[in-house]
Amino acid sequence: MTSVPSVTLNNGVEMPQLGYGVFQVPEDETAAAVGAALEAGYRSIDTAAAYGNEAAVGRALAESGLARDELFVTTKLWNADQGYDNALRAFDTSLELLGLDHLDLYLIHWPVPERGLYGETWRAMEELYSQGRVRAIGVSNFQPAHLRGLAEHGDVVPAVNQVELHPFLQQAEVRRYDAEHGIATEAWSPLAKGGELLSEPVVADLARKHGRTPAQVVLRWHLQLGNVVIPKSVTPSRMRENLDVFGFALDEADLTTLAALDRDERTGPDPDTFNVA
Ligand code: NDP
Repeated sequence: MTSVPSVTLNNGVEMPQLGYGVFQVPEDETAAAVGAALEAGYRSIDTAAAYGNEAAVGRALAESGLARDELFVTTKLWNADQGYDNALRAFDTSLELLGLDHLDLYLIHWPVPERGLYGETWRAMEELYSQGRVRAIGVSNFQPAHLRGLAEHGDVVPAVNQVELHPFLQQAEVRRYDAEHGIATEAWSPLAKGGELLSEPVVADLARKHGRTPAQVVLRWHLQLGNVVIPKSVTPSRMRENLDVFGFALDEADLTTLAALDRDERTGPDPDTFNVA
């Protein structure tokens, strides 16, 4: 079975560099999908309160028979639950739905800057961390301005910043800020949702050159940049394909070719304005 390397977070916790995401997997299909992913060899699972499938993730984890310390479980605090007391309550709910006694990583899902609550929310995350109920705390969709805001409110530097990131949206500024502050960058929609990027001619050319698939080339690019990735697929053959990315390497010319695909194009919302509660 493929062995996935880890990145060491800024508090010493080891996080698998490649995990499995379950956004938009319907609740009634999630347990089977996560079960298949664990069977394929994934050990890191990324969910969120907003995905409505934490309980199904929890069932699959329990049914896998894997030891808790072999698993790395991430969930996220939804926008409506920002604020100190709300955040503590939301954490309890997520943990209960997942059927766990601690989390590996808890993230603030979006900054929602117009509400001005992420600093207070972060203090609740710090409290949960100091109680040992979560091994690492972080954020998602934070731009450098939001991270600077957080630094004014909190003592703990986020371990992870999970942002939309793929060859069409390379996020140089966010990655630079994260790297300078010891924050691991985690890529959501690492395959740009499996659409146009995977039929992009230069990606197809690199796939032919390496005898790999376009998705494998894109995931390999992330890994060589140092990103943590969480591709989603409900298709078992693709789950295995996305995990089988450790037996080849892109060269400097390949990386330069892929760097040229950057067009600052999001598939998802803009973190400065996204405020759905
Ligand atoms: P991805 O970039 O992972 O793409 C998923 C899509 O690509 C699915 O349609 C899947 O199809 C298809 N796909 C997967 N593997 C392959 C392959 N090898 N070849 C061809 N097509 C493939 O997008 P997501 O938006 O799902 O992002 C991944 C994870 O990131 C989410 O599940 C979630 O955990 C996280 N996320 C976090 C967000 C945040 O705000 N923090 C926002 C969005 C996502 P199929 O399933 O049919 O096989």
